[in-house]
Amino acid sequence: MDTSAAKSVSARALTGCRHRLALEARADPAALTPDPGAVLRQEAAAAHRAAVRDRLAASAPLAVIAPGPDALARTRAAIADRVPRIWGAALPRVNGRSGHVELLQWVGDGYVPVLVVGHKVLDRGSGALISAIDRWDPAPDDAVKPRGHRGDAMRLAHLTRMLQDTGAASSSLLGGVIGVDGERLLVQDVEPLLQGYDERFADRLAILRGEVATAPSRIAECRRCPWWPQCEAELSAKRDVGLVADQTSARALAGVGVVTVDGLAAYDGPAPEDLLVPLRDLQALARAWIAGVTLVRRIPEVRVRRADVEVDVDMESFGEDGAYLWGTWLRRDGLDLGYLSFVTWDPVPTRDEARSFGAFWSWLMDRRAEAHASGRTFAAYCYSQQAENKWLLASADRFAGEPGVPTRRAVEEFIASPEWVDMFVAVGDSFLSLVGRGLKKVAPAAGFAWRDPEAGGEASMAWYLIASGREPGHDDAERAGQRERILQYNEDDVRATRTLREWMCSAAMDALPVV
Ligand code: SF4
Repeated sequence: MDTSAAKSVSARALTGCRHRLALEARADPAALTPDPGAVLRQEAAAAHRAAVRDRLAASAPLAVIAPGPDALARTRAAIADRVPRIWGAALPRVNGRSGHVELLQWVGDGYVPVLVVGHKVLDRGSGALISAIDRWDPAPDDAVKPRGHRGDAMRLAHLTRMLQDTGAASSSLLGGVIGVDGERLLVQDVEPLLQGYDERFADRLAILRGEVATAPSRIAECRRCPWWPQCEAELSAKRDVGLVADQTSARALAGVGVVTVDGLAAYDGPAPEDLLVPLRDLQALARAWIAGVTLVRRIPEVRVRRADVEVDVDMESFGEDGAYLWGTWLRRDGLDLGYLSFVTWDPVPTRDEARSFGAFWSWLMDRRAEAHASGRTFAAYCYSQQAENKWLLASADRFAGEPGVPTRRAVEEFIASPEWVDMFVAVGDSFLSLVGRGLKKVAPAAGFAWRDPEAGGEASMAWYLIASGREPGHDDAERAGQRERILQYNEDDVRATRTLREWMCSAAMDALPVV
């Protein structure tokens, strides 16, 4: 169905891939597979908005527009009455714009839009204009500065134009954002954003109306985009240089006439400025793509730290709430001794995390002490240590003094030691990759396959909701099934890092091309 309503630009359409917007405008919405990760993120955002709404309602009078067929009329009436704060306002689709706003704040001569978002909006610094959330009283704050978020800026400009379209906007041209802390309101000057917004809006509206053509081009968004198989086929048919070069480098290469993978492989001119990756590496990737391989050795001798006693570690957390599972794979003197998990199924955050974390840490340090006592070397491995380090330190802080829980200092010393090895770094030091460096992308090259075809971080969050009982309506058998599934996935992750390491130390390396 091709209605004018279907052709209005939402704030979401202003950021992200232009080609995706064109494809989705032509697609049957029922045929689009919902992204389970996006569904989870939307649920978390809705819960955060509801919590902020309740806090706002508790702090000062708040008119709440419940969704429904007459929401538009009720919003109009509230605006006509100059109600100071309106939550969930429904704004009419005018001039090709559609969108929703969490809060409309009356500021004396009209309304300004206020967003409620699930990310940080402030950093340490100075100069941010801050208001309390219960009244509009912007004042400079010497302790914080705005963090800057393109999506928020575009949405504020979009909503300001929507308010102008309906005659309800304040002439102040300000807007507000309440971030993940839900306690302060960052006031933003929207006026400087409007010109850039207007240009972008016109472009996106023209795309939706089919007035301008779009073409795929590989960008970061492609990694999670359901259209990638179709776009990849198109790019491959054109042998597009973007298949092996990042967006910035591809643009720089286009500036010297290199637009195909073959052109890049054969290029013998000077390296263009603005390349984010050395020309030599890009050309090695081009040759690898032509040869049909995904990994290229950076160095002839691939190296990764090995030890007599090796422990692969993988942690599972649920958002910022807690780390509920520490999984390990133990290998001693070249013999695999198997998987061991330390888990709490009480919904996090929970005191029971202290028990599972303390048991994990004690077990790990015991293996290390045993190794040292017997004259063996020891190493523990993770894949991309950022998440593990964060929860090792946070757990030491949160559960200080509980049995088995180390001091922060002890954790810091261990993770700074050569016995804590990040396989993600080892892979980056060893290979150039056409498929990225994620474990799920690299381990298959070593012959590893996950038993669960849906295995992934976001899927495991959905499983955890059932496994921990956070999501009501599931019986014991379903909970047990999802627990089993998480443990198997976690075991496969630690087996994957172990397999990858073995492979990197094997004769299989000889078959990979070298830069
Ligand atoms: S796969 Fe990439 S180029 Fe294609 S629509 Fe998605 S984001 Fe755009």
